[in-house]
Amino acid sequence: MSIKVEYIWIDGTEPTARLRSKTKILPAGGDAELPIWGFDGSSTGQAPGRASDCVLRPVFTAPDPIRGGPHLLALCEVLDTDLTPHRTNTRAACLEVAERFSDHEPLFGIEQEYTFFKDGRPLGFPAGGFPAPQGFYYCGVGADEVFGRDVVEAHLDACLTAGLQISGINAEVMPGQWEFQVGPLGPIEVSDQLWLARWLLYRVAEDFGISATLAPKPVKGDWNGAGAHTNFSTRQMRSDYSAIVDACEALGAKAAEHIAHYGAGIEERLTGSHETAAFTTFSYGVSDRGASVRIPWQVEVAKKGYIEDRRPNANMDPYQVTRLVTDTVCSALG
Ligand code: ADP
Ligand code: MN
Ligand code: MN
Ligand code: MN
Repeated sequence: MSIKVEYIWIDGTEPTARLRSKTKILPAGGDAELPIWGFDGSSTGQAPGRASDCVLRPVFTAPDPIRGGPHLLALCEVLDTDLTPHRTNTRAACLEVAERFSDHEPLFGIEQEYTFFKDGRPLGFPAGGFPAPQGFYYCGVGADEVFGRDVVEAHLDACLTAGLQISGINAEVMPGQWEFQVGPLGPIEVSDQLWLARWLLYRVAEDFGISATLAPKPVKGDWNGAGAHTNFSTRQMRSDYSAIVDACEALGAKAAEHIAHYGAGIEERLTGSHETAAFTTFSYGVSDRGASVRIPWQVEVAKKGYIEDRRPNANMDPYQVTRLVTDTVCSALG
């Protein structure tokens, strides 16, 4: 039986890249290593028409839970034809930082929030109006509070079958809004897995006639935005509280640089309300969901553990976020 390999990559759409994929058929029992492949970069914002070839190199492979059998998903990085990283390839710089600071053993757990849409409005929103205000949807149960659970369960099963390290899921504060968490894993591993989990989310929802979006503020007004809280620790932070405080201080010293790479439209989401800190300020605190960075209460009790950077948008690029956090904190911890 031939093997269908879905080559998945991150495109050049501005300001927020999108996922693309296409299928390569390989003979069964072939070479263990997947071959490089190519695509038309002029159709993805990655090349001009007259020099349109871009190269796909598989970097992370998983069993395909959609097609089953011997079929594979292959997350790829994009290269130029001289096999150097393409300008849209943010993975290469992340890998460099991950290797430079590997002695620190950085770990990330990312909480990916997202929103289902159908017929041009969030799933659970009535035509031409609004549902009851926020209050009972978060971690809710029942047909009046929860919308899209069948899709969410199918996505969770797909991720687990693909071998992704999902640590949990929950319904969120706005109807049709959900979250899954990936990790804890190293910077490259968590980012590769998050991109693949995002692709599976779109792909699984497609079969239900529903679209999923990572838009950071899908509904204006008194509705929560969608974030990607980024939980982080190093070996030192996992054993010593002073390293926890040092990490928060280090993030504060580079707040503006981080905000600039935490996802397009972050100013609309980090307003200072709806469980956020304003993007113009930096703060950290124990149990504080209104701070930029939260120290979980158990971490203060145990005097060791991890911190939660609450600022990244749902539409952030995990290669950029984990690169920055690793670089900023590990440089400061020394
Ligand atoms: P919240 O209470 O903010 O909703 P979640 O339970 O959704 O938190 O997510 C917490 C995340 O933190 C999970 O992905 C978990 O794997 C991750 N995590 C736990 N311990 C660590 C650690 N030591 N370093 C990094 N991430 C961690
Ligand atoms: Mn969470
Ligand atoms: Mn959440
Ligand atoms: Mn959180």
